[in-house]
Amino acid sequence: MVARHIKTAGLVANTTTSQKVSDIVKGVIHDIRADGDKAVRSYSEKFDKWSPPSFKLTETQIQECISKVPAQTIADIKEAQKNVRTFAEAQRASIKDFEIEIQPGVFLGQRNNPISTAGAYIPGGRYPLLASAHMTILTAKVAGVKNVIACTPPISGQVPNATVAAAHFAGADEIFLLGGTQAIAAMALGTESIKKVDFIAGPGNPFVAEAKRQLFGEIGIDLLAGPTEILIVADEYADPFTVATDLLSQAEHGPDSPPILITTSEDVGQQTIKFVDQILKDMPTAELAGTSWRDFGEVVIVDSLDEAYELADVYSSEHVQILTQNPREALEKMRNYGSLFLGEKTCVSYGDKCIGTNHVLPTRKAGRYTGGLWVGKYLKTQTYQEVVDEKASGEIGRLCARCSRAENFEGHARSGDLRAHKYLQDSYSW
Ligand code: NAD
Repeated sequence: MVARHIKTAGLVANTTTSQKVSDIVKGVIHDIRADGDKAVRSYSEKFDKWSPPSFKLTETQIQECISKVPAQTIADIKEAQKNVRTFAEAQRASIKDFEIEIQPGVFLGQRNNPISTAGAYIPGGRYPLLASAHMTILTAKVAGVKNVIACTPPISGQVPNATVAAAHFAGADEIFLLGGTQAIAAMALGTESIKKVDFIAGPGNPFVAEAKRQLFGEIGIDLLAGPTEILIVADEYADPFTVATDLLSQAEHGPDSPPILITTSEDVGQQTIKFVDQILKDMPTAELAGTSWRDFGEVVIVDSLDEAYELADVYSSEHVQILTQNPREALEKMRNYGSLFLGEKTCVSYGDKCIGTNHVLPTRKAGRYTGGLWVGKYLKTQTYQEVVDEKASGEIGRLCARCSRAENFEGHARSGDLRAHKYLQDSYSW
């Protein structure tokens, strides 16, 4: 493959910074494990300058928040949630319990049971990411999770009213105004005032992702959904202004959100670079978007679309947008991505905010081994077995005994012997 960069990233991943984040997170988790609410409050004061009498919102406070949100925003939240719910319900319907009779009288089955208690993290350090409430809380509720606890940080000391409204309409059972590692650790470990959950889902900054990583095992997690990424595959039919606009739509998430373009057209590549610079001149979020573009943006020229797909699979980006003459072919050609956006009439922002697919997606190449958040992540696929036929039980007993003794498991073997004796009158020597 001959791939040629006409714009390279200004930075490479900084392992010193990652180590620093990891150390901070480790300390916060340690202290919350030891001191519960006291440590939660102290870290909320330290990192967010936030220490209300209670982090949990009362029903009255929730209604006050809702009353401050413009009517159009409430209507939009409800419409976006309708789309997310409809898609999640279709996902739920696609997951089937089943039972087979693997041989006469031997039944094997599978059930999908919801997790009992889930924590939903809704990011809010920089922007009130209220759409994450639809994605985490609603999806859990469609899966059948009984208790969903939502945590979201204040934004510059202010209550994010629209996020609270979205969390409430999505069906959160409790809402806490708490952010970062302290929120993740409090939900994972439980404190005097915050219930311990079994599972935490939701995106977040490197502190949130690292906290989930360190606590995984004590709790389940959805995936490591770190800083947003976008990769666009474009051919000569793509409109460079659209390419530039869509790259920057994701670069504005933060200063570390990689926007990548892989194109078969050098002209599209060069024009995109020009348009990015032009759009950044008066984009209100240019500081973040421009930093991401400068430090992590790449434009790569390849000889064919097959090469573009192959390279895109190596990047394994969170969002992959296909701006080519025949975008659907990417469904067959690509394997590694969080979500695919096919053609110019859709875009990553639709998925982020309202189209109905889940926007909590794998980053940092996790798309190689997982998809994004969906109903199935809130379900435990559990198996069972029943043998109702005596002869079958005795025969499986003989097989089990031989298999067990091949592994030197005498105790296991005797469970098989016992049944072979009982149902087939085999003799046994122990
Ligand atoms: P956030 O809610 O994730 O983080 C804010 C919290 O970080 C604060 O409450 C604070 O406690 C903590 N924090 C900040 N600086 C700290 C420090 N120096 N030490 C310890 N803790 C500190 O909100 P955010 O920062 O705006 O980040 C949201 C992230 O979510 C963005 O990176 C965005 O790209 C990402 N995102 C990812 C997806 C996905 O599916 N992958 C989806 C949406 C958003």
